[in-house]
Amino acid sequence: MFSNLKIYATDPILELALAYKEDPRSDKVDMTVGVYQDDHGRLPVMKCVELAQSNITKDKSYMPVLGSKSFCTSFEKYLTGGNSDCVAASYTLGGTGAVRLIVDIINKSNSQSVIWCSDPTWSNHFGIFDAVDVKYNKYGYQYKSNIVDLEKIKTDLSEAKEGDVVLLHGCCHNPTGVDLSQDQWKDLFEFMKDNKLIPFFDIAYDGFSKNHGEDRWSFNYAFEKFETVFLSYSFSKILGLYGERSGGLLIKTPDSKSKALVESNIKKLVRSTYSNPPVSSVKVTNMILESDELQTIWHEELDVSRERIIRIRNTFQEQLTQYGSAIDGISGQRGLFSLLDLSIEQVQRLRNEYGVYLLDNGRANLAGLNSGNVDYVASAIANL
Ligand code: PMP
Repeated sequence: MFSNLKIYATDPILELALAYKEDPRSDKVDMTVGVYQDDHGRLPVMKCVELAQSNITKDKSYMPVLGSKSFCTSFEKYLTGGNSDCVAASYTLGGTGAVRLIVDIINKSNSQSVIWCSDPTWSNHFGIFDAVDVKYNKYGYQYKSNIVDLEKIKTDLSEAKEGDVVLLHGCCHNPTGVDLSQDQWKDLFEFMKDNKLIPFFDIAYDGFSKNHGEDRWSFNYAFEKFETVFLSYSFSKILGLYGERSGGLLIKTPDSKSKALVESNIKKLVRSTYSNPPVSSVKVTNMILESDELQTIWHEELDVSRERIIRIRNTFQEQLTQYGSAIDGISGQRGLFSLLDLSIEQVQRLRNEYGVYLLDNGRANLAGLNSGNVDYVASAIANL
């Protein structure tokens, strides 16, 4: 029965997180999986979530396939300011679930459409493309002094054809932490419009860069300008709901007929995969989206998290420089990640000799640093 199956390499991020857990050293440092940790290395449970959890109804009956009607309405309103009969919305199992459904929809709509993805990117983008068997290609994502090389992106995208889709990290690019400026976004959108390319935003860190709201400026700008826009949105990090699997998707279509087609296909995909989403996660997320009071608490909590990450970035950069490391740019980068300029051998030495865990390509979750370990990590890196 199973002889045709092949063994796949396990996800390197999850594998490393496991290796970290099993490491007996007490001074080990986890900079692997993208989770926000406070200055004590803990994953905080957010007050807005606790309040919502204590107020949701106890009813455990099945949710509708796309989440609740009120979630879809409030999610679209929250992100776009309105409810349009051209926009399809759905609750999803985290940002991953949203990316997967969107890629499925793209592939079902037009199997000739190529998805263009930044190189580097979140590694699971490629996992999802492979699983769906969609056509994809890469555009170089290079930067100097934290300024993205837009010309390189446009040169690579000049190979794209009409109807191709460009996957864009709306903010806090994973893994580099370097984003386009507003002028660069506008320039890129003009290029994409001229070449009839379709934007697909993946936003998982709204609030970790400048502030919650402003961080999705690129999406909101494109939403007004393009006829078709895809958005995958994750609540995992920004509500601390990681394992609860909370996310959503929006698909702006040219007309209400296309919206009905898209919605029907999302329903079909969800119904035949997991049938409907987890009831309490939908209710908690929806309650926060519907309550001005909970939103105020949420945004204040996000400010605290973001400010801590920025502070620890500055301290880390200062310590690295003091210890004589040539690594630069950490202070100006945003979000959880930076791509440290280290060879794979150096990353492995960091892991083996110092118990400091980051990904082989040098991607480091800066939220793994705190006042108790930042000096240790900076000096370890400078000693390599
Ligand atoms: N997109 C990007 C860019 C991400 O960084 C992540 C999380 N690492 C996701 C999507 C997936 O989010 P979730 O954990 O909500 O599935």
